[in-house]
Amino acid sequence: MSDIKVRYEELATLLNRASAAYYRDDTPFLSDADYDMKMRELRALEAEHPELAAPWSPTMRVGWQPRDGFKKVTHPRRMMSLEDAFSADEVAAFFERLKMELRGGFIIEQKIDGLAVSLRYRDGRFVQAATRGDGEIGEEVTQNVATVKNIPLMLDAALVPAEFEVRGEVYLPEASFQKLNSDRLAAGEQPFANPRNAAAGSLRQLDPKVTAGRDLKFFAYGVGTVEGLAATRQSELHALLRRLGFSTPEFHLVDTIDQLAPVIEKTIAARGELGYDIDGLVIKLDSFAEQEVAGFLTRTPRWAIAYKLPAQEKTTILNKVDWQVGRTGVVTPVARLEPIELMGVTVENATLHNMEEIERKGLYLGAEVFVRRAGDVIPEVVSTANTEAHCPSNECVIVPPAVCPVCQSPLVKEDEKVALRCPNITCPARVVESIIHFSSRKGFNIDGLGDKQVEFFHEKGWLKSVADIFRLKDWSMWLMGQKGWGEKSVYNLLDAIEKAKTVKFQNMLFALGIPEVGEFMAGELAKRYTLDELMRATEAELLTIDGVGGVVAKAIVAYFGNEVNRREIERMRAEGLTIVYPEKVAFDASFAGLIFVITGELSKPRDEFKALIESKGGRVTGSVSKKTSFVLAGTDPGSKLDKAKELGIPILDEAGFNALLKNDS
Ligand code: NAD
Repeated sequence: MSDIKVRYEELATLLNRASAAYYRDDTPFLSDADYDMKMRELRALEAEHPELAAPWSPTMRVGWQPRDGFKKVTHPRRMMSLEDAFSADEVAAFFERLKMELRGGFIIEQKIDGLAVSLRYRDGRFVQAATRGDGEIGEEVTQNVATVKNIPLMLDAALVPAEFEVRGEVYLPEASFQKLNSDRLAAGEQPFANPRNAAAGSLRQLDPKVTAGRDLKFFAYGVGTVEGLAATRQSELHALLRRLGFSTPEFHLVDTIDQLAPVIEKTIAARGELGYDIDGLVIKLDSFAEQEVAGFLTRTPRWAIAYKLPAQEKTTILNKVDWQVGRTGVVTPVARLEPIELMGVTVENATLHNMEEIERKGLYLGAEVFVRRAGDVIPEVVSTANTEAHCPSNECVIVPPAVCPVCQSPLVKEDEKVALRCPNITCPARVVESIIHFSSRKGFNIDGLGDKQVEFFHEKGWLKSVADIFRLKDWSMWLMGQKGWGEKSVYNLLDAIEKAKTVKFQNMLFALGIPEVGEFMAGELAKRYTLDELMRATEAELLTIDGVGGVVAKAIVAYFGNEVNRREIERMRAEGLTIVYPEKVAFDASFAGLIFVITGELSKPRDEFKALIESKGGRVTGSVSKKTSFVLAGTDPGSKLDKAKELGIPILDEAGFNALLKNDS
């Protein structure tokens, strides 16, 4: 056999296996980018050596046959694939080819990365749904599709023909994908490689109840036939579909190829913010009459092309795992990867969160893994690329360290938490990280005091804690003699430190690095307290703030209860710290610590009572327990009242509640 034939067979066999894994089993082992590249090579071989083209070649088919267990549905009109374009030149060739039909212009739509489905309506009522399958025959998924909340099940029959078929993409929003994968990991199941496979796996369930729990969504972008419709172009079809209650993907209209580049740029820039995945743009002739003239090839329409965007996930090799100590002492594994390019950025590191996640994902050194980058989110190792992969020897097992990689203190694993922690608060890694955090933009925002400078000053022994920042001036003479530091740069740094002494309270709270207090929580606390008040606040009082739960309240009280932290704050104050407070919100804590349950019909909507209770620092919960302070009961109160009586919880009618309000205000 010639080398070319060997390569041909190798590629065709691999791609057939990959297609089955992707379309039939929803568990790909190749990345899309890899698949597309290999498919291109196969197509090129077939074009150059037509005698090689086998009838079983993956280039000949659309998708995959329906899976056993599903009823089969023959599509009244074939569901096709799309020709790919990976470069501007390929799109230009497409425009050139269609020059004859150009008069009606082009429509550019988002290419939604989900799975294609066909929905059939009879007299405006939803009657059947099917997957694309192999394009001719799909899987019946009527019950499953009926659970997708944004699909209308009844249409305005006056606007559509008696037999009406809508085509579009079922997809899973990014946030739902993240949640689904973390639930799967928690249940010991293999995570999905990407939202597309998660959507396909969620829709193609024999039990529609599983689908119902998956938050799938739908975008409509086509119809089986345009005959009998009040639309003569694709852009009009969008308007009609929206009128019927469907969501349709964002689109742009262009006349010439020059107008395409800005649309692509804009799409790439906004891609991370969409909340769902797109893998490209579909460019179509807008006019249906012109589409008809252009016609079809075997697998694809001639009037459309898919311009593929850079891949969001790829496979690569996990070379090494390093352990990093953060400012709270948490030791986090970081994956060192064989570098890959993802959406224009070279990715060589990715977070692995914790050891449990490493185990659940079945990762080991040398494993081939799927790495994904969604928008600006830090790249993540989603899963191993091969579900059957395993570590062939002891050497590739990832072992967590027993001691802190920086200060060698034995690490601890706190109860209920999966994280490993360095308990040494003077651990250089913790100190350095907390000073970097303190001086960062959302904290004290000290220009010129970044990672490198903090590390350097710490090594010199000039920065041992955050308050030392305000004494750096003592070292200015020494600093001026150091490499890279001149009079001006030292002056600039000291000036920036001086300016940072006037600080917004919310920035200061964020900068202190109190566990559980991020930017948002710092803002909420700053609105209600001064520093001294917060240092005295009790857990019960903190719990009355919206969004503060037991863990947060405990962390705040513990932080200010710690002598070392109090001393640091006093040292900063002694250096002339000026705290700028935001406007205070009126804070009436007369119901602080009280838990109410509301039941029965009241004179005003329940939400109004709830808002009133919360504005006074109380909380409203849904069920009566021993912790309930009062039950506010209207007419027809139901079982909650019985439960309150049983537990001896005080019961208030509206008059009683109003009296309580007056007493307390
Ligand atoms: P495609 O996904 O490249 O394009 C066709 C599909 O695009 C249509 O069927 C439709 O479902 C969808 N689409 C989304 N938005 C659309 C819009 N606005 N208008 C029209 N159609 C729209 O082609 P395909 O044949 O479905 O799949 C091939 C692709 O699937 C490959 O390029 C590869 O990326 C991926 N794949 C990957 C593997 C793997 O192992 N990773 C295996 C098989 C296929």
